[in-house]
Amino acid sequence: MTNMADLTCKVLIIGGGPGGYVAAIRAGELGLDTILVEDGRFGGACLHVGCIPSKAIIEAADAFHALTHPHALDAIGVALAPPKLDYAKTVAGKDAIVARLATGVGALLKKARVRSLRGRATVVDGKTAIAHADTGDQRIACEHLVIATGSEPMELPALPFGGDVLSSTEALALTQVPPSLAVVGAGYIGMELGMAFAKLGARVTVVEALPKILPLYDEELTQPVGRRCADLGIELMVGAKALGFAKGALKVVGDDGREKTIAADKVLVAVGRRPRTDGPGLDKLDLTMAGPFIRVDQRCATSMRNVWAIGDVTGEPMLAHRAMAQGEMVAEIIAGEKRAFDKVAIPAVCFTDPEIVAVGLSPEAARAAHGQIVSGLFPFRANGRAMTKHKDEGFVRIVARADNHVVLGVQAVGAGVSELSAAFALALEMGARLEDVAGTVHAHPTESEAFHEAALKALGKPLHV
Ligand code: FAD
Ligand code: NAD
Repeated sequence: MTNMADLTCKVLIIGGGPGGYVAAIRAGELGLDTILVEDGRFGGACLHVGCIPSKAIIEAADAFHALTHPHALDAIGVALAPPKLDYAKTVAGKDAIVARLATGVGALLKKARVRSLRGRATVVDGKTAIAHADTGDQRIACEHLVIATGSEPMELPALPFGGDVLSSTEALALTQVPPSLAVVGAGYIGMELGMAFAKLGARVTVVEALPKILPLYDEELTQPVGRRCADLGIELMVGAKALGFAKGALKVVGDDGREKTIAADKVLVAVGRRPRTDGPGLDKLDLTMAGPFIRVDQRCATSMRNVWAIGDVTGEPMLAHRAMAQGEMVAEIIAGEKRAFDKVAIPAVCFTDPEIVAVGLSPEAARAAHGQIVSGLFPFRANGRAMTKHKDEGFVRIVARADNHVVLGVQAVGAGVSELSAAFALALEMGARLEDVAGTVHAHPTESEAFHEAALKALGKPLHV
C-alpha cells in the first residue's frame, strides 16, 4: 500500500448518498469531527441516477406529451404549431439540475466543516477504515462508524446488464429516445420511466411477474394508472416473466406457459435494488444481517457498538427521505441526543401519471390491525381545481379507527398528488382524528380540498359529493 496517511475523527461515514451526506451535515453542524467518504459522487443514487434525474425526465415527458396531445389545451382554447422534441436538450437540462444540486450538497458539507474524501472505503474493523483515494490510501480511525453504502440495481440471470439491456442508471443516461422499449418489472422504476418514455414517443411494453402493476399499492389506487397506460398505448403484460433478449427480441413466458416475443430496441430491467454490502469489506465486522440487509434497531444501531447503518443498506422501504431521516437521527444520537426512529408513517409516492401517494395503512391493513375502521373517498371529478386542470381522474381516501377516529392511513391517486403527501404524513405523525382534518379550513380551489372532503365523508357528512 502506497502513501498511507493516518486521519482520525469522531464520526466516519461511508457513502455520500442522501443517508450519508445528511448524517454528515447534521454531525458537522453539531460540532462532531466528521469525515465522509464517497467512491462515486456526493448525493448518491438519489441525486445522480435516481430520484432527481428520473423526475427531470418525467417532467420533460409530461410537457412534450401535453403539447403533442393537446386535448386539454384544445379545451381551454389554446392552439399550437406541432412541437418537436430535442432530447439532447432534455438530457442537458436534467444534467444541469443534478449539477446545481450537487454543488449545493458540496457547499453544505463544507459549511458544516465535514471533511469529504473521494474514494472507495474498505472497513478494517469497527473503528478503522481505509479510503482508497486517487491521491493515495488513507487509514481513518474513528469513534463511530456509519455505513451508508446504499443499493444498486438487481440483475436477472436471464437478462444481464450490458448492450441494449439497461438498468435505470443507463436508461436515465440515454441520449436518444429508443423507438421501442421493453420494461421488465412494473414497480416504481418500471412504471415511472416506462410511462415517461412512452410520452417521449417510445413504443413501450411492460412485463410484470405478478398479476398486477405496482403490486405495492392496492387495486383501487393503481387502476387509474393502468387506464392511463392504455391511453398512452403501453402494453401491460402481467403474470409474465422475461426469459432472455437477443437480436432485438425479448422472449417472455406468461402464466399460462405460452411464450411470446416482444420486439424492443432497448430493455429496461427494473426488478428491484439490492443493498451494497459486499464492496466495503463488511465481512470484517461482526454484523447481524436481516436477509441481505444490515439489521438495525430503532436507533439505526447495528449489532456492534458504535457501528451504525442507515438508508437502503438497512432494507425497505428504500426511499431517499427515509435515508435522510435516519441519517439526521444517527448524527443526533452520536452527539448525545435521545432519539429513536419511531415515525408513524413514511410516505410512499409513485411519480406515475397519475401520481400515487400512500401514507400509513391501507383499508385492508387497517382492518387487519385494528378491526373496525371507517373510511371516506372523495373523487377529483368533484373537485373544482382538478376540473380546471382537466385532470380530474383519481381520488383521496382516508382511513381511520371506527372507535376514536384516529387517522390510520391516507392514500391518493391523481395529477400532482405527490404534493399532498406532506399534509397526509403530518396528519398521521400528529395523531390527527377525522375531526381535526374536517375541522381544518382548506384553501379553495385546491386539490387539498379532496383531503378535507374525504374526512367529511368518513364522518358521514360530505358536502360536495
Ligand atoms: P445511495 O443513494 O445508494 O448512496 C450510497 C452511496 O454510497 C453511493 O453514492 C455510493 O457510491 C457510496 N458507496 C457505496 N459503497 C462505498 C464504499 N465502499 N466507499 C465509499 N462510498 C461508497 N427514492 C425516493 O424517495 N423518491 C424517489 O422518487 C426515488 N426515485 C428513484 C428513482 C430511481 C431511478 C432510483 C434508482 C431510485 C429512486 N429512489 C427514490 C430511491 C433512492 O434513490 C434511494 O432510496 C436513496 O438514494 C438511498 O439513499 P442511501 O444514502 O441509502 O444510498
Ligand atoms: P420495485 O420493487 O418497485 O419493483 C420491482 C418489480 O419487478 C415488482 O413489481 C416485481 O414483482 C417485478 N419483478 C421482479 N422480478 C421480476 C421478473 N423476473 N420478471 C418480471 N417482473 C419482475 O423495484 P424497482 O422499480 O426496481 O425500484 C427499486 C427501488 O427503488 C424501489 O423499491 C424503491 O424503493 C426505489 N424507488 C422509489 C421511487 C419513488 O419513491 N418514487 C422511484 C423509483 C425507485
